[in-house]
Amino acid sequence: MTELSHTAPVGDGSSIVPTGPIDSHSKLRDQDFQAPTGRVGGQGVAGLGELSDMERTERLRKMHDGTLGSVHSWELVTAVDGPGTRLTIFLNGCGLRCLYCHNPDTFFMKDGTPVEIDEILGRIRRYRKIFRTTGGGVTLSGGEAMMQPEFVRRILAGAKAMGVHTCLDTSGFLGANCDDAMLDNLDLVLLDVKSGIPELYKKVTTGDLQPTVDFGDRLAARGTTRVWIRFVLVPGLTDGKDNIEAIGNIITQWRNVIDRVEVLPFHQMGQDKWDSLGLDYQLRDTKPPSPEATEEVRDYFRLLGFEVH
Ligand code: SF4
Repeated sequence: MTELSHTAPVGDGSSIVPTGPIDSHSKLRDQDFQAPTGRVGGQGVAGLGELSDMERTERLRKMHDGTLGSVHSWELVTAVDGPGTRLTIFLNGCGLRCLYCHNPDTFFMKDGTPVEIDEILGRIRRYRKIFRTTGGGVTLSGGEAMMQPEFVRRILAGAKAMGVHTCLDTSGFLGANCDDAMLDNLDLVLLDVKSGIPELYKKVTTGDLQPTVDFGDRLAARGTTRVWIRFVLVPGLTDGKDNIEAIGNIITQWRNVIDRVEVLPFHQMGQDKWDSLGLDYQLRDTKPPSPEATEEVRDYFRLLGFEVH
């Protein structure tokens, strides 16, 4: 999922080939479901090697049933990505191409490291005490975690069975992949609303705004999963009054489930990754917003009655 709203993951960046976005309304198609090419290994750092056809088939089977995932990295963080101390797991694969993405090395599933579900759940189990003491838990981020819905399903169910707080950091673009059974095991969604205007959303992400709106509508109608809205303020791109107001109009409909709105000032920390991957980074000359401009947008959301950070 996100962008600047993601904490920068640690890990290597493999070279990638840009492709277009996928159709968010349909379930993932086989050709989108790229198995990672590295060999299975622990700690998110596997030795890479060529796979035989049989190995590839077996890997795809395990990814389809969610016992294997493509993982970029994980880290233990405090006071970001949800409450308390959290294990944030960055999954590979994303159908959007946000201009300000600071994790472009998570774009493709095939570039991630294959990690077994048991390894992830074992790690969550190990940190249970810390989660309990700090009011933390596990956060699934990316990339877009919902590119791997069956893997996410197993992690959420496993974490819940251990009594661990669960959080999904997502653009909502693939919200249709997050069915009600998954939502039953999801305590918090960090929902990135990148723009409130369809044309601008398309310009910023290459994707459509509507799936995010649909996902937010569903969360509000169910009323069981809490939501933190995240919005990245990019001067000259997302900071127009019409855009801010459009976002305000949308999220006001979800007021019953929103606990906070986070306005995140754009920064240039992703630039090196775009360059090292040989991708065209279009925001090279964009400056971060001033603290005053950021505060002004926060004040707007405060006026709407939200708790704002
Ligand atoms: S391209 Fe994907 S990972 Fe990057 S900011 Fe956009 S939604 Fe997040």
